[in-house]
Amino acid sequence: MLSYQHAYHAGNLADVHKHAVLAWILSRMTSKAKPISYIETHAGRGLYDLAGQEAAKTGEAAGGIARSEDWFPAAHPYARAIAAVRAKHGAAAYPGSPMIAALTLREGDRGDLAELHPAEHAALTEALAPWPLRVHKRDGGDLALSLAPPEPRRGLCLIDPSWEVKEDYRTIPRLTRKLHKAWPVGVLMLWYPLLDGRAEPSPHAPMLRALEPDLTDAVRHEVRFPPAREGHRMAGSGLLIVNPPYGLHRELESLSARFAML
Ligand code: SAM
Repeated sequence: MLSYQHAYHAGNLADVHKHAVLAWILSRMTSKAKPISYIETHAGRGLYDLAGQEAAKTGEAAGGIARSEDWFPAAHPYARAIAAVRAKHGAAAYPGSPMIAALTLREGDRGDLAELHPAEHAALTEALAPWPLRVHKRDGGDLALSLAPPEPRRGLCLIDPSWEVKEDYRTIPRLTRKLHKAWPVGVLMLWYPLLDGRAEPSPHAPMLRALEPDLTDAVRHEVRFPPAREGHRMAGSGLLIVNPPYGLHRELESLSARFAML
């Protein structure tokens, strides 16, 4: 089932959280001379139009990046990625995670991205045409496991599913565990939503409780925010980062302080 389209949600507060951390980590990893591998299991289309009908329909970008942009100084890697896509594609352009990676990776780094939805895959292929990253139309978990451990060994894998089906809460931790086993030095970044509003607790909690003991070195970072609209269940954004780079905790603290003021 591939009904989820990230265009409705691009630039929301969960994206701000995920993309700011991703840009910071990639910038940190590429500040050292050694090459890196970047893998993404659920890539999306890479480039979004926040003036488009999808963004207008949900208003999530208006309550997200439009409201939080001044949190990030111009030199922050996330602000730099946003400025770069705006310079090229206009003021309403917004970079998805593959575009943030494309803008940060250097010659000699490697990038492999999976996207299963045909239209999203086509749009991603077009958006990334100027860069040598490989775009795969296949299951992202299969792709990541087929590459792990990649060469170069230093690197990052972003796991960013849409969590539409309950089954994800079983398959995604299994994938994370297997990837960590196959690629113990790899930085893994798993995004998950914090869901409120129903009788049962948010399903991320038992998933993480079961997963975390199998991870050697991992940090969890969660931020909460008001729901995008009445009845919307997403009340926050979570990241589980395996093998967090040195200095990340300061970036996470600064983000926590920003989100706490919303
Ligand atoms: N990572 C993107 C970003 O931050 O810009 C957003 C990705 S969106 C949350 C999830 C994407 O995964 C959707 O575009 C969906 O079509 C795709 N997808 C769903 N199941 C997949 C699978 N098994 N393998 C690869 N892509 C998948």
